[in-house]
Amino acid sequence: MSVITHAPIIDTGTRLFGVFGDPVGHSKSPLMLNRAFSEKGINAVYAAFHIKPGTLKDAIAGIRALGYGGVNVTIPHKLEVMDYLDEIDEAARRIGAVNTVVNRDGRLIGYNTDGIGYVRSLIEETGCHPKGKCILMVGAGGAARAIAFALAAEGAAEIVIANRTPEKAQELAQAASGYGAVTGIGLTEVPVVMERADIVINTTRIGMHPMVDETPIRAEWIRPGMLVSDIVYNPRITLLLKEAEARGARIHSGLGMFIYQGAYAFEYWTGDTAPVAAMREAVEQALGA
Ligand code: NAP
Repeated sequence: MSVITHAPIIDTGTRLFGVFGDPVGHSKSPLMLNRAFSEKGINAVYAAFHIKPGTLKDAIAGIRALGYGGVNVTIPHKLEVMDYLDEIDEAARRIGAVNTVVNRDGRLIGYNTDGIGYVRSLIEETGCHPKGKCILMVGAGGAARAIAFALAAEGAAEIVIANRTPEKAQELAQAASGYGAVTGIGLTEVPVVMERADIVINTTRIGMHPMVDETPIRAEWIRPGMLVSDIVYNPRITLLLKEAEARGARIHSGLGMFIYQGAYAFEYWTGDTAPVAAMREAVEQALGA
C-alpha cells in the first residue's frame, strides 16, 4: 500500500477527477495530477478506476450522476467512450479517439490531448518547431494517429508514416492528408526517407519492455544534427535514443508527451496553467528517473 505524505483535505467542496482504464494499476496519472492540484492550491483529487470492458457506459453515467469534474480515458476505452459523450472536440473527432472528458455543467465533452501534448513537449523541450520540417514517423497505431494529425496541423512540410503493416500507414496517411502532405510506406522504404528527414519519431512499441534491446531503425541511418524522438518513456532513454545521441543527433524522450497530455487535461478542467515542472518531478520520482 502506498503512503500518503501530504493528504489533501477532502470536504464538500472537493472536485473529483480520475482515469478510466484496464489495466490501470501502473498509471502515473494520479501521482502527476494530484501533485498538480496541490501545487496550484486547487481543492480536487484524482483517482484511478479499473473499468473493465462492458462497464464503460455505466462508468460514464457515474460521472454525470456523481458530478465528477472530468476523467482521463486510456486503453482500451478511448474509442468506445465517444459513444457516451454529449460533444466531441473537432480534433478528437478527426483522430477518432478521446483521452480527456470534461464535465461542463452536466455536458460531457471529449478531447484528445495526446497529439497536442506530444507537439508541446517537442517544442518546449527541444526548441524545434515542426513547421516546415520533413518528419518520418515509424508506427501507425493509436498514438501515431493523434501525433500525425497534430503535426500536420502545425504545418509540417512533409510527414511520412512507415509501418510494419504498410496498409495501416497508408490508411492513416489518407485520413491525415487533408491537413498536410502525408504519405504512408512500409519499413523497407525507411532508409531513403532517413536521408532527408529533419525529425524521426518512434511511435511503435519497440524499445519498451520486453523489446528494450531493439530499435525500429538502424543506427547507421541516423544523421548528426537530426532530431530523434521516441514516445516510449519506460525506459526513459531507449536504445534508439542512446544510439541517436552517439551518432550526434539531438534526442527527445516520450516522458514529455505523457506530462503534457496531462497538462492539457488539467488546463481543460481548471482553466488554469498546468504546473508542468512539478508534474514532471512527480512522474520522474515515481519512475526512478
Ligand atoms: P498500438 O496502437 O498497439 O500500435 C503499435 C504500433 O507499433 C503499430 O504501428 C505496430 O505495427 C507497431 N509494432 C508493434 N510491435 C512491432 C514490432 N515488433 N515491429 C514493428 N512494429 C511493431 O499502440 P499505441 O497505443 O500507439 O502505443 C505505441 C507505443 O507508444 C507504446 O509503447 C506506448 O507505451 C507508447 N505511448 C506513449 C505515450 C506517451 O505519453 N509517451 C502515449 C501513448 C503511447 P503494426 O500496425 O504492423 O502492428
